[in-house]
Amino acid sequence: MGIQKPAWLDGLYAQKFFVGCCYHETVKKNEKNVYCLDCCISICPHCVPSHRFHRLLQVRRYVYHDVVRLEDLQKLIDCSNVQAYTINSAKVVFIKKRPQNRQFKGSGNYCTSCDRSLQDPFIHCSLGCKVDFVLKHYKDLALFLRTCNTLTLSPDFLIPPDMGDENETSHSTISDELQNWSSGSENFSTAMADNSDHNNPQYQNRHHQIVRKKRSGCICVGDQLQRCLMRTSLQE
Ligand SMILES: [Zn+2]
Ligand SMILES: [Zn+2]
Ligand SMILES: [Zn+2]
Repeated sequence: MGIQKPAWLDGLYAQKFFVGCCYHETVKKNEKNVYCLDCCISICPHCVPSHRFHRLLQVRRYVYHDVVRLEDLQKLIDCSNVQAYTINSAKVVFIKKRPQNRQFKGSGNYCTSCDRSLQDPFIHCSLGCKVDFVLKHYKDLALFLRTCNTLTLSPDFLIPPDMGDENETSHSTISDELQNWSSGSENFSTAMADNSDHNNPQYQNRHHQIVRKKRSGCICVGDQLQRCLMRTSLQE
């Protein structure tokens, strides 16, 4: 046939990301956000140590879709003409196509394989659409695939320590005080650990809000805080 997708590419499509890892069901931060190119499976940060000698690709979330860094993907496949987006100063590309409503269709620039409108020099909206296009027109991906023997996670990738992360917060005084306030087993560090991305500015914000709320005498943790803030903004 000549039409051949490497196993890693098929896997990258088929695997689900940002769902809980079945091997680490009871552990916090168990969302699968890494793809192992050697095992062709999605894994969670707790799985990473057992795949540390494999080629690993970090998957991120952008507008509810899975994206990977262009810099990483380029090592595996030619990504030219695929529209890239910038998040946190890194260029990313979508793995799969994102269906778009055709009602605004005009004379613009559209993806080769779906209805998505694109910025000018780009002709594919996602890796998926490029692969479809290449297979349709060249019947072979070989020209576009690259040999990649090593691929590692970026240094900012956070591998949480296994278990016992109750004490991971460095703000121990705040944690202790909140622990006294909160009922049951929910405490401040749990609320922190539940947030999937510690680098995300919203998280930082929430953290500061928790501290501020504490000072103003309002006791709010996690969702409670959110509701409390909503109420506050409604009153304003
Ligand atoms: Zn692996
Ligand atoms: Zn896992
Ligand atoms: Zn497309």
